[in-house]
Amino acid sequence: MKEVRKIKADSIFDGRKFLFGKILYVNEDGTIIGIDDDKQDAHNTNLEIFHGILVPGFINCHCHLELSHLKNVIEEKTGLVDFLIKVMQLRSFDKEEILSSIKLGDKEMYDEGIVAVGDICNTTDTVLQKRSSHILYRNFVETMGFLPGVAQVRFDYSLKNVFEIIAAENCNTTIVAHAPYSVSKELLQLINRYAAGKIVTIHNQETEEENKFFQEGKSEFLKLYQFLKTDISFYRPTGKNSLPSYLSELDLPSKILLVHNTTTSEEDILFAEKNAKENGQTLFWVLCPNANLYIENRLPQINLLRKCNCNIVLGTDSLASNHQLNILAEIKTIQKYFPEISLEEMLRWATLNGARALGFSDGLGSFEKGKKPGLVLLNKGLEEVKRIF
Ligand SMILES: [Zn+2]
Repeated sequence: MKEVRKIKADSIFDGRKFLFGKILYVNEDGTIIGIDDDKQDAHNTNLEIFHGILVPGFINCHCHLELSHLKNVIEEKTGLVDFLIKVMQLRSFDKEEILSSIKLGDKEMYDEGIVAVGDICNTTDTVLQKRSSHILYRNFVETMGFLPGVAQVRFDYSLKNVFEIIAAENCNTTIVAHAPYSVSKELLQLINRYAAGKIVTIHNQETEEENKFFQEGKSEFLKLYQFLKTDISFYRPTGKNSLPSYLSELDLPSKILLVHNTTTSEEDILFAEKNAKENGQTLFWVLCPNANLYIENRLPQINLLRKCNCNIVLGTDSLASNHQLNILAEIKTIQKYFPEISLEEMLRWATLNGARALGFSDGLGSFEKGKKPGLVLLNKGLEEVKRIF
């Protein structure tokens, strides 16, 4: 007969809310049997009692595992354009170092209680590690190309990477756009068709310069295209902010994960939610606060997203722009700058909402019968994470 573990903690966060005075019943392989009242009677033998908060495994909706070797390499608070130029300048690194950093990054996320990751791939460097990882990955093969003439070539290159990743037994893989300022309308249309019914993601409004680029054309991004020696004299600004300039091009995916949203206005949010509703899509707003502070030294208007009832989820971004790959560290940063937001609400973003965003809520994100969401214990002060499963 299979051993049933009976687990009790100071509180249990079940993916939606805090529960007190309850016992979590779990199979020995981590499958949830159920939650019941702690009747404190004679049947409660072999009870495992923990101090702290028991939560389902965390979901990291935005990472670039392949950039783990850039930890502590890029200067902080330079602004996005200089950051991007730096990342491109640092492309050639020793392969061994890249691979060993990927391994460490994957282990760090596991140790910090993360069970699933939405991971951006520009290369196939992470494929081997993901094969043996205990983390479930959804791979977003990122493509970019601002010149309309290169759309097909760039798309085909990304498609080749998709096939390579799928061949390595990681089926949850699709093509996505890097950012509104780095893809042409033509490339966005190819992605849109390919991603029909699928989950896509895009870096959105990470800097005010992005809105300026779409509003008036004059922007720091001209410096980026100079660096890339790309003639963008054909480009005509839309006169609108970034998000309303491109979102309607992505009308076929079922879910869109908008990442960063640092300079998204209320008008943009209302437009985006209305647009998604008309297309039968679900939007998820991914917050990566530590990366925002690292690169731009500012934070998104989180209360505005809350006010508009947006689906909020969390991400770490990469170690190029963060000191750790740790969802709890993101929660603590939000707690520091937005003390009015409850821990319960943020844990929802970090678990069930994240699982829904990545399409993994059948098995992850909450303590519901039959799920195997991972069991993580947080101490009261949120300094420590311990994996029970
Ligand atoms: Zn990113």
